[in-house]
Amino acid sequence: MDQKNDPILLKYFVMVAGLATLALAIANLGVEQISIGLALIVIFAVIIAPRMSLTLPRARFAISFGDASVFLAFLIYGGWTAIIIAGLETLSNCIYLRRKGLQFGRRMIITNVSVSLLSFGITYLVYLSVPSISFVNSDHTSTQYLIVTLGALAWVHFLASSILAAIIQSLRQNLGFLTIWLRDCFSSSMTHIVGAGLAGLVYTLVNFGDLMTGTIVFAALGVAYLSYRQSIEEINSAMDQAETAERQKAETEKVRRREAEDHAAKLSKSLERQELAFEALRRSEQDFQHAALHDSLTRLPNRKHLGDVLRQAIAEYTEDPSRHFHVLFLDIHRFKNINDTLGHSIGDKVLSVAAKRFARMLNPTDTVARIGGDEFAVILRGVSSNEKALKVARRMLKSISQPFSLSGNRISLTLNIGVASCDEEYSTPEQILRDADIAMHHAKERKLGVAMFNRELRSRFLERVRLEMDLASAIDNKELSMSYQPLIDLRDGSLMGFEALLRWNHSEIGPIPPNKFIPIAEESGLIIPITRWILEETTRQLSQWQSISHTTRDLIVSVNISGKHLSNDDLIADVENALTRSGIDPHSLKLEITESAAMDDPEHSINMLRRLKQTGVQLSIDDFGTGYSSLAYLHRLPFDTLKIDRSFVSSVGEKGENSEIIQTVIALAKNLKMRVIAEGIETESQYRILRNLGCDYGQGYLMSRPLTVENAETALYERKNWAPTGYERSESDGIDVVQFPAGRNGGSRARGDRRA
Ligand code: C2E
Ligand code: MG
Ligand code: MG
Repeated sequence: MDQKNDPILLKYFVMVAGLATLALAIANLGVEQISIGLALIVIFAVIIAPRMSLTLPRARFAISFGDASVFLAFLIYGGWTAIIIAGLETLSNCIYLRRKGLQFGRRMIITNVSVSLLSFGITYLVYLSVPSISFVNSDHTSTQYLIVTLGALAWVHFLASSILAAIIQSLRQNLGFLTIWLRDCFSSSMTHIVGAGLAGLVYTLVNFGDLMTGTIVFAALGVAYLSYRQSIEEINSAMDQAETAERQKAETEKVRRREAEDHAAKLSKSLERQELAFEALRRSEQDFQHAALHDSLTRLPNRKHLGDVLRQAIAEYTEDPSRHFHVLFLDIHRFKNINDTLGHSIGDKVLSVAAKRFARMLNPTDTVARIGGDEFAVILRGVSSNEKALKVARRMLKSISQPFSLSGNRISLTLNIGVASCDEEYSTPEQILRDADIAMHHAKERKLGVAMFNRELRSRFLERVRLEMDLASAIDNKELSMSYQPLIDLRDGSLMGFEALLRWNHSEIGPIPPNKFIPIAEESGLIIPITRWILEETTRQLSQWQSISHTTRDLIVSVNISGKHLSNDDLIADVENALTRSGIDPHSLKLEITESAAMDDPEHSINMLRRLKQTGVQLSIDDFGTGYSSLAYLHRLPFDTLKIDRSFVSSVGEKGENSEIIQTVIALAKNLKMRVIAEGIETESQYRILRNLGCDYGQGYLMSRPLTVENAETALYERKNWAPTGYERSESDGIDVVQFPAGRNGGSRARGDRRA
C-alpha cells in the first residue's frame, strides 16, 4: 500500500496563489470583453470541451480540447480572460469527471483549479516578461509569430502546470519529483500542443478565413474528430473487452486456482484420513496377527506360533549344530478335575497362573507356548546337555507344585514333562513335538514326572498306536475270544465258576497278552464296546454250560469291568441287556472291579455299584491290596467277594511265612461279610495254607490255567475235581479250618450257598 501524505501547506499555498491570480484576472477583466464570442468560448470550455476529450488507448493522459478554448480566449481576449477560462475549464472538467465516477481526494478539485489558474497566470507572466515570444507588439497576422507564440505558450503552460502537479504528487506519494513528472506529467504536453494548435487554427479561420473555408475546415475537423473518436472508442472498447476477457480469464484462473487449492486441501485431508484408516487397519492387522499367533487366555504364543519358532530353530540347528535346543512338552495332571470340581473360570485362572510361573522360570531366548487345553510346550535354547534340560524340567515341576490360593481354594498342580532334544532326524516342528509328547506320556504312565525321549519310547508308542487301530476292528475280525479260568471251592475242590479272561489273537502278530492291550483299550475307550461284547459272549456261554447238568446249574461267570466303564452310565444297560438276552439268573454273573478303579472316585463307585447291585449281579473287588483302599469307603461299597491279589499269595512260603497280610485281609473280608477268593495259587502249600486260613475260593495255575471254551466244556462234562491230589476232601474230612465269624453271606459253605 502506498504511503500517501497530504501536502496540505503546499496545497493551501497553491490555492491562495491560484485564487489571487483569479482575483487579479477578474479585476483586470474589461466589461467590453463580454461578448457572444466569449460566451461561446465559455460554453465550449465548460460544457463541450470536457465531453470531447479523447482518451488515447493505454496512454496516461487524454486529449483535452479545453486548452484550445483557453488559448483561443488568450488570443482573442487576452491573458486575464484566458486565466478565468482556464479556471472554469478545469473546474467543469473535474466536475464532469467526478460525475463520470472519477474519485477526487479532499480539496483536490480546488487544488486542480488553483494549479490551472496559477499555471496560466505564470504562463501569462512569462508571456509578458519575454517580449520575443509575444506577438502583442508584433504583426498579428503573421502565422509565424502565431506559431512561435502559441508554441511557447503551450510549453510554458505545460511546464508550469506539470511542475506544480508533479511537486504536489511527489509529496503526496513520497516519490521523486522527476519520476512523477516523467511518468504522469510529461505525456500531457500533447494536450497543450494540440490545444494551442487548435486555438491557432480557429483564430486564423475566425480572423482570416471566409465562411466557406471555415465551414469546410470545421466540417473536415468535425469528421476527422468523429471518426478518430469512433475508432478510439472502438479500440478502447476492444481493449476493454480484451481487458474484461483477460480479467475474466484471470478471475477464472483465480477461481480455478482456488478450486485447485481447495481440491488439494481436500485431497490432503482425505489422504490424511486414508493414512489414519491405513494406520487403524495396520493396527487391527497387527492385533489380528497377534491374536492369530497367541492364546487369548494366557497371552502366550499358541501352537502355530510355536511351530514357526520351532521351524526356525530346526533350520538354525541344521545349519549350525552348536545351536542346539530342547523341547519340553508339559501336561497338567488331572486338570479336568479342577474344571469339573471348581468350575471353568477357576480352571482358566489356574492356567494363567501356570503360564506365568512357566514364563518366569525361563530365559528371554526360550519360548513357552500354550498348545492345547492343559498342554504347554517350551523351547529351551543353549542348554548343553540332556541332563541340564531335565534339570530345568524338574525345576519347573517343583515350581508349579507350590500350592496357591484362588478364590478361597487351595490349589496345587502336578505336571508331567517330556523332553526331546534336537536331532538331525527332525525336519518339522511336529516331529520333535510328537517325541516330547511321547516322553510326556511315558512320564505320566510310569509316574515319573519327567522323562527324556528315546527311540525305544517311540517304537513302543508307534506299536501302541498300531495296536489301538487294530483293536478297533478286532471284534469284527473275530480276533477276540474268551478263556475261562476255573474258580475253585478250596474246601472240596469243586468248581464254583469261571473268571472270563479276554484273549486277542492278532492276525499278524499272534497272541497279545491282556496286560499289553487292556490298557490301550482302556485309554482309547474301546474297552466299553469290547466289554459289552464280553458280557454278551460270557453270559451266553454260561447259560449253555448251566444247562449241561444239575452240577453245572449253579456255575457263575466272573467278568472284569474296567474303571473307565464303571464311570460310564451305559454299564447298567449293558449288563441288563446281557442278562436279558442270555436269560441267566443275574446272580450267576459276577463283576470284578479292581480296587484302584473302585477307589478312584469312591462316591461315584458307591453310587454305580449300588445301581449294579439292583440288577441282581454279584460284585467282587479285584486285586485287593494293590490299591489304596480307604476303610471308610470299603464298608460302604456293596461287594460280595474280595479277591486277594496274586502278589500276596505268591509271597507265602512253604511253611506259611508272609501269610500275615493274607490273614488280616481274610479277617477284614469276613468282618465286612464278604467271601474271600485268592488268585495266583501256584503251589500246593499255598493252596493248603489259604484253605487253612479260611479262604473260601481259589484260582491259580495249580488248579488250572485259563481254558479255552472247548477245554472248559470237556472239564464240565467230566465233572472234574480241581483240587490238587490229596486235597479233594469234603468238609466232613475235618481239616484244620480257621474259624471266622459268619460273613454277610452267611457262614455256611454248602454248595447251594455259593450263590448267596
Ligand atoms: P485279573 O483280573 O487279576 O486276572 C487274573 C490274571 O492272573 C489273569 O491274567 C490270569 O491268567 C492270571 N493268573 C491266574 N492264575 C495265575 C497264577 O497262578 N500264576 C500267574 N502268574 N498268573 C495267574 P491274564 O489273563 O493275563 O489277565 C491279566 C489282567 O488283564 C487281568 O487281571 C485283568 O486285570 C485284565 N483282563 C483280562 N481279561 C480282561 C477282561 O476281559 N476285561 C478287563 N477289563 N480286564 C481283563
Ligand atoms: Mg480279575
Ligand atoms: Mg486279579
